[in-house]
Amino acid sequence: MASMPYVLSQRELLQSKHALLRSTATEKAYRAYFASVAQYLALSESVPPRIALGDGDAGSAITLRLHESVLSKRKYLIGFVEDAWFAGTFPSYDAIASIVQNDSYYIPPLVLVPRRQMRFCTEMFRSILEHELVHVNQAIRGTLPFREPQAELDAAISTFFGVVRSEFDANLLQLARWPKFFPHERVPSLEFWCVLRGLAEALESAVTGAFCSAKMLTSLLSALRDAFDDGLAKCKVHGSLVNFFKRGLPHFVSTAVSNRIESQPALVKNASIEAAQQWLRSCSAKI
Ligand SMILES: [Zn+2]
Repeated sequence: MASMPYVLSQRELLQSKHALLRSTATEKAYRAYFASVAQYLALSESVPPRIALGDGDAGSAITLRLHESVLSKRKYLIGFVEDAWFAGTFPSYDAIASIVQNDSYYIPPLVLVPRRQMRFCTEMFRSILEHELVHVNQAIRGTLPFREPQAELDAAISTFFGVVRSEFDANLLQLARWPKFFPHERVPSLEFWCVLRGLAEALESAVTGAFCSAKMLTSLLSALRDAFDDGLAKCKVHGSLVNFFKRGLPHFVSTAVSNRIESQPALVKNASIEAAQQWLRSCSAKI
């Protein structure tokens, strides 16, 4: 028997309305973005663009197209890349927002999509595309944190929660528009799911050194509990839920470490992964 579709509560609808306001680029920022897209498209007529994100990676030929977002009704740049390159570069993704900061050339924020998805055939894929477009909007608005190691602990904590919030909003907006993809029968609430997705993403980045050095990582993980309330304040999640995630932090860190090692076994020797494991051992020693 097919499961009943999920219906959002008034509170969840209001939360998603606020998430949309937070994640929508201002008119001025959008105009500047669109001007840079027009320039990039004009340039790509004479010099066919390639995109390379990794060191020494030859990159992938890219076909550019404008696409109107269902949520914001504005047009954004989409780049279709070779299937094999996409699968090798982003193994667990269907589509990904690409915000490249590079001094030698400029590429406007865009969503990269493997060519096999060129026709956006399934509703599930269209919902994923909108999720990624939320991140593009956050980048245009200037609220998408750059995952760069920070020298100061406070800056690393702030970047960590910036990632949690950006994922919370993107998941909430995706599922508020397509509630049928919310796995409500096995998850306590939509809010729970969106915090979980945000926390998992931020922790998987943290344990591989995205926010600070391996040396600082144990301090970052130890400081997270006290920073949770402020970090999630803008998302207005229930206090009881915040406490649940604070208490369960070692479990979520452990899951993040396992997930990263499972997808990239070589990470087992990574200094940040080792620091996270050391932090986990210190938590269990305290019990
Ligand atoms: Zn996301």
